[in-house]
Amino acid sequence: MAYNIGVIRGDGIGPEIVTEAVKVLDAIGEKYGHEFKYTEILMGGCSIDATGEPLTDEAIGAAKSSDAVLMGSIGGNTSTSPWYKLPADKRPEAGLLKLRKSLNLFANLRPAYLYEELKEACPLRDDIIGEGFDMMIMRELTGGLYFGERSTKEEGGQLVARDSLTYSETEIRRIAKRGFDIAMKRRKKVTSVDKANVLDSSRLWRKIVEEVAADYPEVKYEHMLVDNCAMQLVKDPGQFDVILTENMFGDILSDEASMVTGSIGMLSSASLNDTKFGLYEPSGGSAPDIAGQGIANPIATILSAAMMLRYSFDLDAEADAIESAVKKVLKDGYRTVDIMPRDGSTVTRVGTVEMGDLIVERL
Ligand code: NAD
Repeated sequence: MAYNIGVIRGDGIGPEIVTEAVKVLDAIGEKYGHEFKYTEILMGGCSIDATGEPLTDEAIGAAKSSDAVLMGSIGGNTSTSPWYKLPADKRPEAGLLKLRKSLNLFANLRPAYLYEELKEACPLRDDIIGEGFDMMIMRELTGGLYFGERSTKEEGGQLVARDSLTYSETEIRRIAKRGFDIAMKRRKKVTSVDKANVLDSSRLWRKIVEEVAADYPEVKYEHMLVDNCAMQLVKDPGQFDVILTENMFGDILSDEASMVTGSIGMLSSASLNDTKFGLYEPSGGSAPDIAGQGIANPIATILSAAMMLRYSFDLDAEADAIESAVKKVLKDGYRTVDIMPRDGSTVTRVGTVEMGDLIVERL
C-alpha cells in the first residue's frame, strides 16, 4: 500500500534526525512491501528565510493533503538568532502553533519509558525507579492558556498583562475520550490532572472527565492536583499509566516526565486530530548547540515514525519491528553522546548516521 507522508525537516538538528527516520521508514517499506512517498514541507526558521513566514498557506495545504506528517524540530538559539527579533507571530514557533490549530491537532501523546539499558541516565534513585516506568502523557494541545485572549496595557501608570484560560465541554470531552481510548490499549489506568481547588476551568475538566469515565468501566481513574502530580513523578513514577491533562500543565509535566527517563533524545511524540491524521515529532527541540556536528540522537524521531505507523497507518507489526530494533541497538551497547553512561568503557559511542544504520540493520 502507498502512504503520503509530509516531511518537515525544520531547523538545527531537524534535517539530520529526519534523514535517519526516513532511512528507517524506507527499510520498513522494502521489508513489508509498502510505498512511502514523501512531500517536503517548509516550516520554522528555514521557512522564514525562504518566504518571510514561519508557515505559508501552501505548506498548510501540503500538510493537509498528506496522510501524516513527520517532523524534526524548528527554531534556533532564542538569544542569538535573528528569528527572535521578529514579532511573536512571525517567529519559528508561531508556525508550529499555526499548524496544530489549522489541522485541529488537539491531542498530544508523549510516552515516557525507561529503557533497562539506560537506567543509569535516570536521575532518580534505584529504589524510586523500582521496576521501571512506562507512562503516556495525553496533553490537550489547542485550547487553554496558550490560545486564550491576551493583552498588555497601561493601567494606572504601569503595564498590566493578562492571559485567559478557557475550556469548553466539547474540548474537554474529546481529549478525555482519546485518553481513555489509549488507556484501554495499555494498563487501563487514567490519572486526570487539574487544579480544581482553584480554577473554574479545572472544575469543569473534572466534571466532564467523570462523565467520560462512566463509558469506560474497565478503566480505573483518579484525579490528581497538578502540584501533587509534579511531586509524584519524581517520587513514584511507576504509579502512572496514562496522565490526562490540559495544555499548560501537560507542557510542564511532559518535560518533567521526559527528564526522569534520562534523555530527551529518546522520546517521541504524536499530535492527533479526530481522523487518522497525525503530526509525529521528537519531544526535544532543534538543539542549536549541537546542530551540524553529526552527533544528535535520531532515536526519538525514529520512534516518532514508529508511532506514525501505529496510530495513523495501523501498521502495528512494522511499528513493533522499529521499537524492538531500537531496544536491540541499546542492548548491543551503542550510544549517542546524550545517552553515554558516566563510565563509557562498556559501550560504543556512535554518531547520528551510524545510529540510523545500526537500527536499519536490526529491523
Ligand atoms: P532542546 O531540546 O533543543 O535542547 C535542550 C538540550 O537537549 C540541549 O543541550 C540539546 O543539545 C539536547 N538535545 C535535544 N535533542 C537532542 C538529541 N536529539 N540528541 C542529543 N541531544 C539533544 O531545547 P532548547 O535548547 O530549549 O530549544 C532550542 C530550540 O528548539 C528553541 O528555538 C526552541 O524554541 C526550539 N524547540 C522546538 C520544539 C519543536 O520543534 N517542537 C520543541 C522544543 C523547543
